[in-house]
Amino acid sequence: MPDLPDTSQEFTVDPDLCTGCNDCVKALPQHFRDTGEDTAEVISCAGVDRAKVEAVMKACPGKAIKWR
Ligand code: SF4
Repeated sequence: MPDLPDTSQEFTVDPDLCTGCNDCVKALPQHFRDTGEDTAEVISCAGVDRAKVEAVMKACPGKAIKWR
């Protein structure tokens, strides 16, 4: 049986893929912040709007944001 798509509402940033562009921080500051070390991180997944997060995921140059 193939794996089902992950439909959870939590997401993470892979620091190894993140370029530190901060586009996600600018677009969704309620979910992301700049670590100050050329990466972003997730600060909260509360109240997630899947469409907005998926738009940021798609635009992320490192493809670093993933559903958990
Ligand atoms: S958009 Fe992607 S590459 Fe840019 S800071 Fe966010 S996670 Fe990192």
